[in-house]
Amino acid sequence: MGLFTKDIKTMEDLFSHCLQDIYYAENQIVKSLPKMIEKTSDGELKRGLQQHLKETENQVKRLEQVFEMQGRRAEGHKCPAIDGIIREADEVMGEIEDQAVLNTAVVALAQAVEHYEITRYGALIAWANELGHRPSAKVLGETLKEEKAADAKLTAIAEDKVNPRASGSAARSRRTAKKRAGGKKTGARARAASRRSSARTAKKKGQRKKTTSRRRA
Ligand code: ZN
Ligand code: FE
Ligand code: FE
Ligand code: FE
Repeated sequence: MGLFTKDIKTMEDLFSHCLQDIYYAENQIVKSLPKMIEKTSDGELKRGLQQHLKETENQVKRLEQVFEMQGRRAEGHKCPAIDGIIREADEVMGEIEDQAVLNTAVVALAQAVEHYEITRYGALIAWANELGHRPSAKVLGETLKEEKAADAKLTAIAEDKVNPRASGSAARSRRTAKKRAGGKKTGARARAASRRSSARTAKKKGQRKKTTSRRRA
């Protein structure tokens, strides 16, 4: 930011400014994800975050590729937004004692990061296309796809497992099932539950496949 002049004059300037912003952000995310991974006790969540850490390292390289395509040196520009999101995550994680509640918090805090990235990449891609930087838009698009997939996966883990465990509803429904000695839920509640679970299964079939093959590997 210039004191006497305004640095961003054109849309092209804005594009390269935001490219530097997200480059800084991705580098901060590479540093902060290990802390989130360490804080979680859920295996699936841990593996999901570890996979996204690897993706993020590759996203940094992709951005370096885009800088090169633009004929610029890869350079970061301090992003106060990601710094704030990460600082808040550290604070919240530090205030939680219960491990199940901590797992739930980690999902939401990680999703705040993903959503920030999604807005930034969304704009960068639109601007790159508008400015005629098609190859850059394509490379940035690969990253956007990964950010959206990471976000969707976190939602699935939260809804299926981590949230019910933190609220105690997983334990409650296990107890109820026992009490009924294998009896099935009846009426509207059973129909609603089965609708919810089949909708979830349909939505995440693709992701489940990936998870299984990764586990096998
Ligand atoms: Zn600036
Ligand atoms: Fe990223
Ligand atoms: Fe930013
Ligand atoms: Fe991400």
